[in-house]
Amino acid sequence: MTIVEEEREIIEVDVLFVGGGIACLGGALHLSNLIRKHNERVEKQGKGKRLDEITIALLEKGTDIGSHSISGAIMDPIALKELVPDFLEKGAPVESEVTKEEVYLLTKKGRVKSPIIPPPLNNHGNYIVSLSRLTNWLGRLAGGNEVDIFPCFAATEVLYEGNRVIGVRTGEKGIDPDGNRKANFEPGIDLHAKVTVFGDGSRGNLTNGLIKKLKLDKGKNPQTYVVGAKEVWEIPEGRFKPGDVIHTMGYPLKSNTYGGGFIYGMKDNLVSVGLLTGLDWEDPYLDPHLEFQKFKLHPLVADILRDGKLLQYGAKTVPVGGYFSVPKIAFDGGVIVGDSASLFISQKIKGIHLAMKSGILAAETILEALLKDDFSAARLENYQTSLYKSYIGKELYKVRNFHQAFQGGLWIGLIKAGLQYILGGRILKGRLNTESDFVHQKKVTDLYGTDLPTDEQKGIIKFDGKRTFDKASDVYYSGTIHEEQQPAHLKIADLNICYTKCKEEHQNPCLRFCPANVYEMEIDEQTGKPTMKLNFSNCLHCKTCDIKDPYENITWIPPEGGGGPKYTIM
Ligand code: SF4
Repeated sequence: MTIVEEEREIIEVDVLFVGGGIACLGGALHLSNLIRKHNERVEKQGKGKRLDEITIALLEKGTDIGSHSISGAIMDPIALKELVPDFLEKGAPVESEVTKEEVYLLTKKGRVKSPIIPPPLNNHGNYIVSLSRLTNWLGRLAGGNEVDIFPCFAATEVLYEGNRVIGVRTGEKGIDPDGNRKANFEPGIDLHAKVTVFGDGSRGNLTNGLIKKLKLDKGKNPQTYVVGAKEVWEIPEGRFKPGDVIHTMGYPLKSNTYGGGFIYGMKDNLVSVGLLTGLDWEDPYLDPHLEFQKFKLHPLVADILRDGKLLQYGAKTVPVGGYFSVPKIAFDGGVIVGDSASLFISQKIKGIHLAMKSGILAAETILEALLKDDFSAARLENYQTSLYKSYIGKELYKVRNFHQAFQGGLWIGLIKAGLQYILGGRILKGRLNTESDFVHQKKVTDLYGTDLPTDEQKGIIKFDGKRTFDKASDVYYSGTIHEEQQPAHLKIADLNICYTKCKEEHQNPCLRFCPANVYEMEIDEQTGKPTMKLNFSNCLHCKTCDIKDPYENITWIPPEGGGGPKYTIM
């Protein structure tokens, strides 16, 4: 479909934030505060250049701010204290300060309690939060502070002049599955900005394209991820208090699979329970949703959830490559913030304060850029420099080889990571290299021989619909919905690979690794011919398929704005 360019509206803004997560919202709010304070100072001192009528716009693909935001989550409040010092008085929706912590190593039925809380998992002074609630609250603060917020708008393309970023294009609306215009057709809009801030999340489609085009990952480790599946349950009063925290290692994940479980007590008898699984797993039969269901059957978790009720489900990937996987984050006309910039401390399982601080630092550089009317890479690189000098840069550096240390398995990883932490990063100094997650997956015959594994070998369990749920039921609890009459937003480059090479070598792992049952292989009863069916309306926008497909055959692109999960307490 070609759009006649005259139909396309062009909107000019000064600063454009792409993505309605914590990083962009924090940045937009901080920038509007900085501009206001700057103008007050100029007014008071009677000298200097005022910044009048600066337009700050923010695009979000979800229906509401926060509806696509999901995390464990425990938040270190250090960045929020900078951004909104009186955040509690202003009604920040924190669930509770962390009051009690336990760490367990799980076997199938047993548990060993750690006698101490490993320092990185010590959450004294941190808060349990629902990221969707916190993000929504921050969105309301930013919206009340002269930031123009546009939900339901998915940015689908970066606009360039040469190699200089000049803004983004939003997706068309009202296209039918065959690519024809429907009666409600609306062309995308071009938003031009002096500076564009990319915060399109873990494996953000725009950032991914930027990294490739501008070679922002030159000399860096490839990005690596975990996928987290999470549910929020309502449980009987007093069973698990707000502020109670449990972290687990071991079961149901095998010792060569990176990851672990969490249980966080929220207000109003709610509990957040989830499992993170490293996408560098080897087994083509691994299904992170299935592993999560097994986690809930472990006696430690089952006792907490007993007689409870599932309220919400969701999944997302998180970048865990750390310091050496952070791309160049400033270039002509733009910067990258938050998860898109791989700002996450996997050792502490924390990204919220890094996302927020990156937004704050980006805003400070953008203020300078507005004052100097200079949006070149040289000017915007001050953001990158200040990030590495800041407490988040130092935190990232201290545990720079954490995730790589686990590539030899849980036990070796624990020893290496523990020593690196205790010695303040004085061992494993140089860069440990890593490979993209999909490379790690082995062929079925490499792991199981020529006979296909039995359900028992694959660890398959029956779901009871009370404590364990199949994917379709869980997706219902995510509120996910998409306009069905649009082209699928999962692009399979070569379906032939699915029916031949991928089937033979990996038994189509997309059927298992997608936590929302988007991929389904239908077999014709007469001919035995397979057809890939995409239940794209189920998609949780987690990006696992884009990352883990062994042939890099799947690309996730944003669907029509407004589609996707409707998280409210995740
Ligand atoms: Fe995640 Fe891809 Fe499945 Fe969507 S289709 S839920 S992005 S794995």
